[in-house]
Amino acid sequence: MPELPEVETVRRGLEDRLKLFQVEDIEVLSERTISSEGGGDVFIQNIKGLVLGSWSRRGKYLICYLQSLDNCEHAGWLVVHLRMTGQFKWLNSARIPCSHTRVRFWNRKGNEIRFIDTRNFGQMWWISPDHLPKEKINGLMKLGPEPFSNEFNPVYLKNSLRHRKRSIKASLLDQSIVAGAGNIYADESLFEAGIIPTKESRNLNEIEITRLCKSLTRVLKISIGKGGTTFKDFRDLEGINGHYGGQAWVYGRGNKSCKKCGSTIIKNKISGRGTHWCPNCQK
Ligand SMILES: [Zn+2]
Repeated sequence: MPELPEVETVRRGLEDRLKLFQVEDIEVLSERTISSEGGGDVFIQNIKGLVLGSWSRRGKYLICYLQSLDNCEHAGWLVVHLRMTGQFKWLNSARIPCSHTRVRFWNRKGNEIRFIDTRNFGQMWWISPDHLPKEKINGLMKLGPEPFSNEFNPVYLKNSLRHRKRSIKASLLDQSIVAGAGNIYADESLFEAGIIPTKESRNLNEIEITRLCKSLTRVLKISIGKGGTTFKDFRDLEGINGHYGGQAWVYGRGNKSCKKCGSTIIKNKISGRGTHWCPNCQK
């Protein structure tokens, strides 16, 4: 599943590639992909003819600012969630779509930006300029702060965890606590902070919470710096970041020895997600 660094990498790619991409035509091959009201027809009707402006990211949502061609007026938003396997592909010239192609956008020159999604859980929305995306998309409304924002700090985290009995691993995966930190980065940041993932969230002390805030942002920053992963690698590696995977302390290293102390890394399910930790380094 693409996590924050991968989605951020996709965002940067889209922004670089689609500078002032004017949507000449759209084809929706999978009605299921379009989650906004009115489905594919309304989606096409409203985005056709517009220019794709800047791309931002909120959690794992990609948000494109749409503008009209003539006067650059704000004309709504295109929002995308990649979910499990969604990916964008840029094509310079016409090519027959594969069976996993869900939505296609062309400009006047015949260049295509294609949304391919094997599992077909990915979603797209057209949001009218009268609304903000978070007013219309539930998942966006409930998102907690971005890990790199000022709102995500030890005081905030301490307050959010105060009454939670659930494991700290489950809390880190909860998008309403912090946006976009998924499985790999939760495991890695807990290792760096020396916290065992099964620990009840409310039992973390202040030092641990401060360490965790730092390690989470550090791990995410390093991964973004490495380009997250190429999407191709990502699909091949089932969620392991091509670059990051190689330097992981615990993620994907069940039964191997800890790089720090030599103990055997444990792999177990917590909240339904494969979780990795060192029984000696993490308490
Ligand atoms: Zn260890």
